[in-house]
Amino acid sequence: MKDVEFSTEICVIGSGAGGGLAAGYLAQAGHEVLLLEEGAHVKAEQMTQREEQMLPLLYRDGGNQFSADGGVSVLQGRALGGSTVINMADVVAIPESVLDHWAQVYGVDRFTPEQWAKAAGIAAQAIGANRIQSHEVNRNAQLLLQGGRALGIDGDVFEHNRVGCVGSGYCLIGCAYNAKKSTALTWIPRGMATGNLRVETGARVSRLPHQYGRVRAVEGQLLDKHTVVGRFRVKAERIILAAGAIHSPLILQASLLGGPAVGQNLSLQPQAPVSARFPESVRMFRGIPQAAYLDGRETCTPQAGLGGFRLESVGATPGMAAVNGAGWGPELLEAFRDYGRIGAALCLVPDSPTGQVRRDGFRPVIDYPFSPAWLERMREAIETCARVFLASGAEQVYLPLAGYPVVQGVDDLKALQGWPLLPASLNLISAHPQGTCRMGKDPQSSVVDLGFGVHGIENLQVLDASVFPSTASSHTMLPVMQAALLGLGAV
Ligand SMILES: Cc1cc2nc3c(=O)[nH]c(=O)nc-3n(C[C@H](O)[C@H](O)[C@H](O)COP(=O)(O)OP(=O)(O)OC[C@H]3O[C@@H](n4cnc5c(N)ncnc54)[C@H](O)[C@@H]3O)c2cc1C
Ligand code: SF4
Repeated sequence: MKDVEFSTEICVIGSGAGGGLAAGYLAQAGHEVLLLEEGAHVKAEQMTQREEQMLPLLYRDGGNQFSADGGVSVLQGRALGGSTVINMADVVAIPESVLDHWAQVYGVDRFTPEQWAKAAGIAAQAIGANRIQSHEVNRNAQLLLQGGRALGIDGDVFEHNRVGCVGSGYCLIGCAYNAKKSTALTWIPRGMATGNLRVETGARVSRLPHQYGRVRAVEGQLLDKHTVVGRFRVKAERIILAAGAIHSPLILQASLLGGPAVGQNLSLQPQAPVSARFPESVRMFRGIPQAAYLDGRETCTPQAGLGGFRLESVGATPGMAAVNGAGWGPELLEAFRDYGRIGAALCLVPDSPTGQVRRDGFRPVIDYPFSPAWLERMREAIETCARVFLASGAEQVYLPLAGYPVVQGVDDLKALQGWPLLPASLNLISAHPQGTCRMGKDPQSSVVDLGFGVHGIENLQVLDASVFPSTASSHTMLPVMQAALLGLGAV
């Protein structure tokens, strides 16, 4: 066991959308920065495109992090670059109605919509955001748009942060071509090029000792993969916590910081996969995996924030596809015989902040109860998605409901109305956990103030997905970057 001491001006914890940006930005602004990341630095040449090798290297719990009742698979990155290394690279800013909602309902009114928009522009440019070109839209995405057109549901292709993409389809297990511009390829190397940024990977922060309203140190363990090989202690004038919406609240809880709201107000924004077999070759596992969406049924108002639902084309590697779609048992086997003809989409249903994260030792316990109203929106989303696939020519549709028979036509959807939607029998994935260090004015109901500082602590900010008062957007990478830039005073 070794004991290591570091001393720096600014210590950033977590290297994903929030922390990677913060470290790179501050280093470029001339500050001395130490970036601590629990996961490893996995370079393009180590991205083998094999799930059994990449999931343990890049994902929290190897991709097996679930809510306590097993109802939602909560996916998060655990590597230099955080979730931006394994995400789908869709770039979507916080809608203005959500900002109005936060101002009206949560009193989050410090920044103007123009400032949020300016932050979006800076972040989008830094990560190379551009519109997916029509020749890059794979057959799976085309079929979703085609079905949407047939049913009169609006849709479009995404903006993304890929540059030089060869369409391999492996985004979810890391890009071997350095085409997906994660923070590990953008903000962090730009910061390191200044000589002001030092990066320590395999450094897991456990607590932030504090006294008289100041954090005095950052303490944690040094890891070799998952084995503890030492301890570290960092002395820093300023600390930025960006360990993501599950682990930032755990670090605050372990430090007796953050007040009664820390860990509360979790949104998971769960998504359900619907897959379908077509009479033609689809090869959803090739090309940009998530290129198109139908948002004609999504709502967004200042009163309620994001609501309704949207459908997004999705491609997956075989293991993920087997776990998340195309039926169960013999149906799954049959579907896999025709893997090249399978298409898939995700039903993304924005939720209200109803969950919480608490500690069991060092591990998170994620409690996530479903509201009846949300379940009904999910039911409608699944039915609509099935209808879209049938309208675009699917022979069979597989719903994400244990035991639901294979759908061969719209009549087979009638049973959906009375079908019980129960935790763990409804197949759900979360890629956008948010809200557990909520921003607000009242220290009883929020964790950080409107400047992203932890209430009552003068040198600790939280700059990650945990600060959003309610779900920020249908996709959260750019929103986290917008928030981080505002928190850093960049706009
Ligand atoms: C599979 C998947 C697909 C997605 N697709 C999209 C998409 O297409 N578009 C989009 O906008 N968003 C997408 N997202 C979401 C987006 O990537 C995240 O919302 C965003 O990266 C969150 O930023 P963050 O800084 O809060 O956390 P993260 O990016 O998750 O980074 C947190 C980092 O902190 C580290 N950490 C945690 N605990 C500790 C500790 N104790 N000590 C040190 N380090 C620690 C983690 O290892 C991790 O690297 C996707 C996410 C996933 C998982
Ligand atoms: S589809 Fe493009 S961005 Fe995704 S892994 Fe392949 S080359 Fe990289």
